[in-house]
Amino acid sequence: MTSPQARRPIVAANWKMNTGPDDGAKLARAVAAQGLPFARVDVVLCPPATGLAAVAATVRSTPVAVGAQHVYWEASGAYTGEISVPMLAGLATYAIAGHSERRQLFGETDLDVQRKTLAILAGGLTPIVAVGESLDQRDAGQTLDVLRSQVTLVFEALSPDETSASVIAYEPVWAIGTGRNATPEQAQEAIGWIRDTVAEVQGSTAADQVRIQYGGSVSPDNCDELLSRDGIDGALVGGASLDAAAFAAIVRAAAP
Ligand code: PEP
Repeated sequence: MTSPQARRPIVAANWKMNTGPDDGAKLARAVAAQGLPFARVDVVLCPPATGLAAVAATVRSTPVAVGAQHVYWEASGAYTGEISVPMLAGLATYAIAGHSERRQLFGETDLDVQRKTLAILAGGLTPIVAVGESLDQRDAGQTLDVLRSQVTLVFEALSPDETSASVIAYEPVWAIGTGRNATPEQAQEAIGWIRDTVAEVQGSTAADQVRIQYGGSVSPDNCDELLSRDGIDGALVGGASLDAAAFAAIVRAAAP
């Protein structure tokens, strides 16, 4: 069994539809200058597509990695407005799939998330696969079923090695951008269910190795209690990641 300590924490910033190339580069420069514990935690910045080149150039000589917020699964062709994984060469080493805003606002389905995850892995990038229940689903006692179904549909299509190399973000929909974070107990319980599901689908080695973040209103005020919990391998951070000092505090809290 891999001990939880053996999984390297990962903190990713999802800037959503904020920042262009210039202010994105400025924010990336500010993050890289925060004196972060890069030896103990992976740090990823996910700017909007138009900022990828500027941010990638800014952090090139630093340990900060860059991720895309969205990709399409086909490699090229008549898909106006879309960006493929091969088009991210030299720009990004991570890509998010299944963010709840993509699911809710743009109709992304579990099957889409599976296709995107396979394409991200095939292109040599690391997927950050976001899953999570809505408030209605939680109130109806369906959280475990929702997470099991979302995780199974993506990870049954992968190999155990691809699963180990992936990152999962547990992001309860009701906690994203609301200022209402899950309690450490809720996050730890749900992440435990996700890891159990990965074990059912891909075996215990993959389940021990896959990194599972918590995301949903993580801030400098709540990051210590969330990220000190066993099994929570870092965070996916939206709003607070637009402030370099706030994001740095979260990265430090994730470092073992
Ligand atoms: C997110 O966008 O993935 C997120 C968790 O946002 P916030 O931290 O603002 O809730």
